[in-house]
Amino acid sequence: MQNLRYVGKNLFLEKLSIVNILKKCKTPFYLYSENQIIHNYLKFTKTFKKTNPIVCFAAKSNSNVAILKILGKLGAGADVVSGGELLKALKAGIKSNKIVFSGVGKTEEELKIAINKKILLINCESESEAILVDKIAKKLRKKISIGFRLNPNVDAKTHKKISTGKAENKFGLSIRNFKSFLKDISTYKNIRLDALSVHIGSQILTDAPYKKTLSVMYKLIKQLNLKLKFVDLGGGFGINYSGKEKIINLNKYSNLVNSFSKKLKCGIIFEPGRSIVGDTGVLLSKIQYIKKGSNKSFIILDAGMNDFMRPALYDAKHKIIPVSKVKSKIEGLIEFVGPICESTCKFGTYKNYQKIKENEYIAITNVGAYGSSLSSNYNTRPLIAEILVNKNKLKYIRKKQNLLKLINS
Ligand SMILES: *Cc1c(COP(=O)(O)O)cnc(C)c1O
Repeated sequence: MQNLRYVGKNLFLEKLSIVNILKKCKTPFYLYSENQIIHNYLKFTKTFKKTNPIVCFAAKSNSNVAILKILGKLGAGADVVSGGELLKALKAGIKSNKIVFSGVGKTEEELKIAINKKILLINCESESEAILVDKIAKKLRKKISIGFRLNPNVDAKTHKKISTGKAENKFGLSIRNFKSFLKDISTYKNIRLDALSVHIGSQILTDAPYKKTLSVMYKLIKQLNLKLKFVDLGGGFGINYSGKEKIINLNKYSNLVNSFSKKLKCGIIFEPGRSIVGDTGVLLSKIQYIKKGSNKSFIILDAGMNDFMRPALYDAKHKIIPVSKVKSKIEGLIEFVGPICESTCKFGTYKNYQKIKENEYIAITNVGAYGSSLSSNYNTRPLIAEILVNKNKLKYIRKKQNLLKLINS
């Protein structure tokens, strides 16, 4: 996250001092760097320039309409996983011919929206779903372009809760079942198989699983002699959460994808989420109380697991940094926790952290992906604000939810 840095003792995002932002904006809130989003997206498209893929931003990683709009303006499409995300992508001005729809449990209502809005591709994840698409399309007297998401049975070597491409995972259709369905597909007159897709997991840090998937797909397409408009290679590219992780150098993979695309004469779709927005946001939170425990001190924040769920859900580690640095240290252990009545509502343990006091502020870093989009009203807490920084300008892109409205809804 190049746009987040200390100037002297104080943390800045782009050209704004966070101390100053905190004088105007009440915590907790998400704060994003617009120029980091733009940088990440352009870097990704540059890496795959030769292949000229359709880059469908995975809207579930951050579905704020203002952020979808920024990406849409740069030419991004969207990968959506619900009717709601589909309508948000359209609201953000993303063209329907750049929207792909993934997910194992799309309802008839959602499929109808997708068909009526003429999106690029419905990526079916079961035979039954493809048959339902055919049935709806027949009623509407349309022929619908579909993809099949395959489960290539490749280990993404990532956290088991975000692995999606192994046989034991619910996602995609096994190659065996796909082959068998293919024999009957011509009986369904209102669908046309235009694409195959894969998405093997998230926060992937090595290129081996991607290479393996590419070779599985290549062999299959050749063996079955499929003529496809697109192969959708999904997302999953990892980011450097700790500052020490090695992330994939995508240049080699880009060459492989390019020759794959040329040999099979098909277009390529990508669905990156985390790698576009993950390192673009921080969650600002106030230290409400400090309480001594038996072997550590609890730093009780005003942000909770309902605002930011990743540590509780995936054991995710996110660096917590002070908004203003001081030299003196706290001896012993501290644990940052939130107010929610769950023991998993905690954000990280540190040894010899700098001195911090009640009513001071910290930033939880790299929360741009699967942060606000995973938040909830648990404990009847309103959804928090989201604020966007561009150079020295500040803009609310979501107001904090109104508590009375929440109670009365
Ligand atoms: C979640 C998801 C993505 C995005 O994954 P990232 O790890 O955020 O890049 C892409 N495609 C599908 C089908 C998904 O479910």
